[in-house]
Amino acid sequence: MSEPVQPEGYRLREDQHPRAFKQNRFVYAVLSRRSHGVSVGINLNPDKVCNFDCIYCQVDRRAKPQDEFVDMAGLQSELRETLEGLKPNGALWNSPEFATLSADQRIVRDIAFSGDGEPTTYRNFTEIVTACIEIKEGLGFAEAKVVLITNATGLERADVERGLALMDKHNGEIWAKLDAGTSDYFKLIDNTDFPFARLLSNLSHCAQKRPLVIQSCFMRVRGEGPSVEEIAAYVQRIREILNCGGRILRVQVYTVARDPALSVVSSLSDAEVEAIARSVAAGTGLSTEAFYGKVPAGRGLMDAGKAN
Ligand code: SF4
Repeated sequence: MSEPVQPEGYRLREDQHPRAFKQNRFVYAVLSRRSHGVSVGINLNPDKVCNFDCIYCQVDRRAKPQDEFVDMAGLQSELRETLEGLKPNGALWNSPEFATLSADQRIVRDIAFSGDGEPTTYRNFTEIVTACIEIKEGLGFAEAKVVLITNATGLERADVERGLALMDKHNGEIWAKLDAGTSDYFKLIDNTDFPFARLLSNLSHCAQKRPLVIQSCFMRVRGEGPSVEEIAAYVQRIREILNCGGRILRVQVYTVARDPALSVVSSLSDAEVEAIARSVAAGTGLSTEAFYGKVPAGRGLMDAGKAN
């Protein structure tokens, strides 16, 4: 196993989310624009394998993974140590990585199951959720949320539902991806054979049990943003979730803010992101948040001639 590689001179910043933090292998700290502060990430996919292959994915899969498997005991010990250091007077706040944070950013907003793939594909999902919640609450972070950042493909599985039910009781939030309104666009952006109808059904059933945060990334592909019709279909998909009795806390509309997998991908303008967020608010009555990016075309991490 090679040593984790935290970028030299790294300071927490919103446009860089390296998974490497100190000497940790599974637990990292980032400044998250969507969390509005520090998020302690838990990487359940250190092998960098995902069941999607999104054309905007920001995971750098060129480098060989440092770890193939999650070491449960090691992960828990890293989480304990990291949270100890991030208590209000914890020593980690004085380390150089946190030097540029403002006073109001010096708080752990959440611990997030995220990382280099789809967290629900981790086979001991409920076990790890249980352990991490115990550590978080035991160290006095009851106020911090437990966030699952998911592409929604595993939300219908019984073993995952057990973990979600536990999260519900401990300030949990599910941030579920919906990047399209039509099956064709879903295939283009998320680059997967997973049926779009099944994804929508997962979102709908899950939202009937607890409120979801929907996360939607829109972008230009070969210079073209999503069409008016695509956005109308996307808004309609959200309406359908609500019409089935699903609850949605808010919709986060964003564009690429860090280098994406393919160089044909670039950011939408701020005005375009805002226009999509306005369409969602007008069409659903939901609260929305917009997050911007300034990534030009040509910055692909994994260019392989996809998205034709
Ligand atoms: S679901 Fe997330 S981790 Fe997986 S390919 Fe898409 S953006 Fe990357």
